[in-house]
Amino acid sequence: MENLELSAYLRSLVIGTETQVPITGGQFVPAINFDNAATTPPFVSVMKGITNFAPWYSSIHRGKGYKSRMTSNIYEEGRHIIGDFVKADPSKDVIIYTKNTTESINMLAYIMSEEHKGKVILSTEMEHLANDLPWRDKFLVDYVSVDEKGYLSLDDLEFKLKKYRGKVHLVAVTGASNVTGYINPYYEIAKMTHKYGAKILLDGAQLVPHVLVDMKPFASDEHIDYLVFSAHKMYAPFGVGVLVGPKETFEKTQPVYKGGGDVRLVSKDFIEWDLPPFKNEAGTPNIMGVMALIDAIKTLNRTDLNKIHEYENGLIHYAMDKLKKIPGVSLYGYSSDNQPKVALVSFTIEDIPHNMIAEILSRHSGIAIRDGLFCAHTYVQRLLNLTGQELNYYRTHPDVTLPGMIRISFGLYNNYEEINRFIEVIYKIAGNKRQYVQKYKKYVID
Ligand code: PLP
Repeated sequence: MENLELSAYLRSLVIGTETQVPITGGQFVPAINFDNAATTPPFVSVMKGITNFAPWYSSIHRGKGYKSRMTSNIYEEGRHIIGDFVKADPSKDVIIYTKNTTESINMLAYIMSEEHKGKVILSTEMEHLANDLPWRDKFLVDYVSVDEKGYLSLDDLEFKLKKYRGKVHLVAVTGASNVTGYINPYYEIAKMTHKYGAKILLDGAQLVPHVLVDMKPFASDEHIDYLVFSAHKMYAPFGVGVLVGPKETFEKTQPVYKGGGDVRLVSKDFIEWDLPPFKNEAGTPNIMGVMALIDAIKTLNRTDLNKIHEYENGLIHYAMDKLKKIPGVSLYGYSSDNQPKVALVSFTIEDIPHNMIAEILSRHSGIAIRDGLFCAHTYVQRLLNLTGQELNYYRTHPDVTLPGMIRISFGLYNNYEEINRFIEVIYKIAGNKRQYVQKYKKYVID
């Protein structure tokens, strides 16, 4: 397929590409969404799937009606589709449906803390808060450092694995950063982690929507022990997340949520928990969300994620090459050494605050981007070289705008024309800062 044809085809897969939004002055323009790392619009196939399934929707597992049986089958079949998608081991892994990546990691942290309290978790300086905060109050947490370019230091990982001498239970690392887009060498990390007797949790929130992830067999030293991701970042926005991990982790431990659906038999004196994953999905689950995720995976499989990744990579390199030529722009996530990455990059423009740029892009041009610390505070602080003193200042001055960056993140439906429109506006902003600030400062609270 030619690139133009591919681009048009990919664009046709999602809903909302033609939506018009109002801008200053009252006109309407086609919305440009460069905030796909936050959440993606739904696939057409997902919405169709939901509508087609709706007449059959019913309670799962306990109902004996035809619709219940059918719904239960699809819901359970979903685990196989997801498992196949990430090459989990159907005989050893469980696929647990959660609400999102954040809930998946919190669940895992609670479950692990039951058996491994007091052990060490190695998180990293480039994590989203979802892969940092859940560990803090339950384990001794240390952070693998990043270098000045923003790359994870494998030397520091090995140093810390050695330093804690067998006490590290888990290395909790992101597959791809939501700030720079850098893809971590997760198989190398897995190898090193296993060498020191620890397990690896891969945060796939920014990886799974863009790259074919293979958890590899249990016997492989590159095996990914735990994988988490969110459906709403992969064109299925109905509130489902996934936690994949070895059955035995969940067999011996208490479930985090307790109630109907996770037990086999209960008396006033005892509780017989059901087996995982049922044990870990108390209450009526998000059935429509699961249907949406199944349809999204089928669409991604049909389209070929390798092709999508290549196309998205073309987009981000095009955008970065244009951005880096604009005076006053500093890029975070651009590298000249072919570092693998997903289609997002962050930047700042000298002398103009990030929140102001975000307001201008939205109100002047209908372009949605993300600004701030992106829930990856330590990483952004490191990349911006903020000192402890500066952080203290921001901490003790709640009225002051926090430091931050601008981030653009692409989905498979974005195209070169949208990037050109965006670059044109950034050029204008960077060249006429005073006028823009004057015009849009009323929207920015400081
Ligand atoms: N991990 C990373 C790398 C993310 O980018 C995000 C969200 O942006 C999360 C975790 C949390 O995902 P969710 O909000 O779906 O729980």
